[in-house]
Amino acid sequence: MPPLTKAQASEVQEYDYFVIGGGSGGLASARRAASYGAKVGLAEATPKLGGTCVNVGCVPKKVMWYTADIADNLRKAAAYGFGKDGEGNRIAGDFNWTELKHKRDAYIKRLNGIYESNLLKDKVDYHSGFASFIDANTLQIDGLDGETYQVKAKNITVAVGGRPTIPDEKTIEGAKYGINSDGFFDIEEQPKRVAVVGAGYIAVELAGVFNTLGTETHLIIRKDQVLRTFDPMLSEVLVPYMEKTGLNVHKSSNVKKVEKTSSGSLLVHVDSLDKPLEVDVLLWAIGRHANTEKLGLEKIGIELDKKGDIVADDYQNTNVPNIFAVGDVAGKVLLTPVAIAAGRRLSNRLFGPEKYKNDKLSYDNIPSVVFSHPTIGSVGLSEPEAEEKYGKDNLKVYKTSFKAMSFAMLDENHKQPTSYKLICTGPEEKVVGLHIIGEGSDEMLQGFGVAVKMGATKDDFDSCVAIHPTSAEELVTLR
Ligand code: FAD
Ligand code: NDP
Repeated sequence: MPPLTKAQASEVQEYDYFVIGGGSGGLASARRAASYGAKVGLAEATPKLGGTCVNVGCVPKKVMWYTADIADNLRKAAAYGFGKDGEGNRIAGDFNWTELKHKRDAYIKRLNGIYESNLLKDKVDYHSGFASFIDANTLQIDGLDGETYQVKAKNITVAVGGRPTIPDEKTIEGAKYGINSDGFFDIEEQPKRVAVVGAGYIAVELAGVFNTLGTETHLIIRKDQVLRTFDPMLSEVLVPYMEKTGLNVHKSSNVKKVEKTSSGSLLVHVDSLDKPLEVDVLLWAIGRHANTEKLGLEKIGIELDKKGDIVADDYQNTNVPNIFAVGDVAGKVLLTPVAIAAGRRLSNRLFGPEKYKNDKLSYDNIPSVVFSHPTIGSVGLSEPEAEEKYGKDNLKVYKTSFKAMSFAMLDENHKQPTSYKLICTGPEEKVVGLHIIGEGSDEMLQGFGVAVKMGATKDDFDSCVAIHPTSAEELVTLR
């Protein structure tokens, strides 16, 4: 469906609901509101619907993770008797980054089209342009076709997401030569050498993709662990395995300066290293910040926190009665399913039947996966968080570490580690934290997430008969 023209848009007197941002949260909220018969409009500032997740996030990232996983499996295949030369080396698996990148782009383009037709199907008016507030009921749309017009709405949701943070030139001279996660998806040819700066989800995932696909990879972290907001066990298992697979993890390290050479390579000066690292790509993955500039939020007095995120309560209400904030812009848990669930529940509450009049998303026990190699799954409290909340003496922690059976045919050096931890509290041993790293953790977590959300105890886990032989069975047989 083509977006609305200025003339078509001007025919609409007033929307019941208008959403700024056609990403995960905005699309979900707009479509849900329209399903209840509300008159709904949505503006998207880029030519592509789907937002971060579809265009430069979860989806193309997962394609790259699958690609890296296949590379891992090809290596595994040799140990199982496939595709070896006379000396036992893998012969299959010449990888063409450029070809894959173009196929991935085509896949994303198809998804953009599907999002557009879904809006049409659900009777949501699609405005292609940048929306900003004139007052609490009026928005200006600066259309991508050059036309500017206004729309009116009774209720407005801000779902404009965020974008990657990059150090400024005053802090790190030459930082501008680096790319961010958006730029990762533009890379046409596999770089030979990369440096990734950061220690969160994106740094771990993208460094993992590069390394697994055979790029010389340097991960530069400020402290001595990655994923420090997660249970410590996860990093303690992941980092040594990253190092074992050839990924260079530079701990307690900070980039001081970046220079571009005449050949186009970059010299990354790191305070812990005697010589600069010479790389083809430097990727900053040091966090994201909300897209709240130029929205005119000051005109309507919307409250922002110190980080620049919109302050919203658990019902997605801002301090202005008819304005709501959903997804990354509200800065709570920056995940696609969180943005979608919050957006849908808000529309249920605003436009749905009576039973939804208090609907809101529960931000407790949100399961989350890091697509590292091997993958990580986590739900509930980390051990330090549980200690703080319940006291060390009121916790019982169960742990196990092993090598998954699928690596049985591989030599010790090539076996991925697996470690699981259950954190339980009280005499009934209620499970308040579950943390897993190892092959298949990404797919395993959802079911265990349901159990934790339902308040399962250790006895509930143990009363479920194990499925053998799997890795997951270890979680119901912990002693
Ligand atoms: P977005 O999806 O960012 O959508 C906001 C939209 O608003 C954008 O399309 C933007 O162009 C538009 N917009 C901005 N300003 C305006 C304006 N003034 N007018 C009109 N439109 C505007 N999450 C997961 O759950 N799993 C993952 O595996 C995962 N992987 C990720 C990998 C990467 C590399 C990144 C960067 C993120 C990843 N995330 C993942 C996080 C996930 O992408 C975000 O949490 C999610 O996209 C947030 O949705 P949102 O609707 O809040 O914002
Ligand atoms: P994160 O907030 O996850 O991690 C950024 C990390 O970088 C910080 O935790 C910090 O770690 C480090 N850092 C911060 N500033 C600097 C600095 N100046 N120099 C060096 N290191 C620094 O952000 P990401 O960008 O990785 O991801 C953004 C969000 O997107 C995530 O929080 C997540 O919610 C979402 N996401 C989800 C994914 C998934 O579900 N699989 C995948 C990708 C993203 P430290 O303090 O230890 O140095």
